[in-house]
Amino acid sequence: MKKILSLLFIIASITTAFAQQFKVEDIKKHITFLASDDLEGRGTGSLGEIKAANYLADQFRIIGLKPAGTDKSFFQPFQVTYSVDGYAHQVTGRNVVGFLDNGAAKTIIVGGHYDHLGKGYQSGSLSPDSKNKIHNGADDNASGTTGVIELAKYFAGNSKVEKHNFLFMAFSGEELGLLGSKYFTDSPTVPLTSISAMVNMDMIGRLDEAKGLIISGWGTSPVWGKIIPEQAAKQNIRYTVDSSGVGASDHTSFYLKNIPVVQFFTGSHGDYHKTSDDTDKINLAGEAKILTLIAGVLEKTDQETTEPEFFSAGNPHSGQTTSNFKVTLGVMPDYSYSGKGLKIDGVSKARPAEAAGIQAGDVILKLAGKDIATIYDYMEILGEHEKGQTVEAEFLRGKDKKTVKITF
Ligand SMILES: [Zn+2]
Repeated sequence: MKKILSLLFIIASITTAFAQQFKVEDIKKHITFLASDDLEGRGTGSLGEIKAANYLADQFRIIGLKPAGTDKSFFQPFQVTYSVDGYAHQVTGRNVVGFLDNGAAKTIIVGGHYDHLGKGYQSGSLSPDSKNKIHNGADDNASGTTGVIELAKYFAGNSKVEKHNFLFMAFSGEELGLLGSKYFTDSPTVPLTSISAMVNMDMIGRLDEAKGLIISGWGTSPVWGKIIPEQAAKQNIRYTVDSSGVGASDHTSFYLKNIPVVQFFTGSHGDYHKTSDDTDKINLAGEAKILTLIAGVLEKTDQETTEPEFFSAGNPHSGQTTSNFKVTLGVMPDYSYSGKGLKIDGVSKARPAEAAGIQAGDVILKLAGKDIATIYDYMEILGEHEKGQTVEAEFLRGKDKKTVKITF
């Protein structure tokens, strides 16, 4: 009896140890710090963002990563210009970069942006009267930043030497147009030719068991379809996939350099880009499961006998990223929508779409006389217009088809 009991005890401890690989307390600690009012929403180049960068560098150092930024530091600074009410502001953004050196020829990147909207002066807030209000960005993207720290801790502490090195990166300037990842891929501190794949996390804190994950970049390498289904099944996580390597986050910058990418996202929500994106709404246990899934994906990718093959996957606006457009409608597309047209998840105050009466839930079918089948058609149309131009938009609201004029 005693023997059976102790055996049961051993089995129970092994199961618990595995289940608690990614601890809810650790996830909570990082998100609580990064999304605290003290960091004032981590606006690019702000004092709050510097505090977040220092915290990340400290974590990387404790974990035992090598500094892989500029001048043997964990930081890769870059200049950013953005406009507030028509006045140009110049600031310095900082990517935070740490290297887990396994003495390998090839490296896998694990990344996520740590900047957010600050106090609402830079564009992007969907809160009414957003100025001078802290946008904590707990889901966007303290959750993904936490993933970078915890995966670094996992791989540095697992007493295994993988076949690849790992580069852990927290990007700045993402909310201003993927600026940090773009800067890195143009001025890499590790040769891009040595990069096997890039795994991105942007908003992984709101897992809803019924909806599951949205996994993008699926079509950029056959390796994802081979590996991910089993890892997701192990964690009992549902998912939908988006084939394209071009999307609204930093994996895009790596995809555009012909690197296989995959990005994890728990989906948009009513607090997206609002002052209410706070820590108390994070599904901590859900994030722990997602990190276990991603750790599994990284381990399996590492163990493949060949390097992940790169596929070009649905990139009709060749080489452009969203930051290159001269005009925008001021809408948040619903990236999980797979029907025809562009489904709107949110509308920014006082921007062209709102001024034209477009609302969340509407599906834009035509813009400037051109059909929109997917989000890429929309991006292509945006690329063809200038500020001040007026075009016609046809959209569905419920079952009603409506037409409005939109001025960019
Ligand atoms: Zn984000």
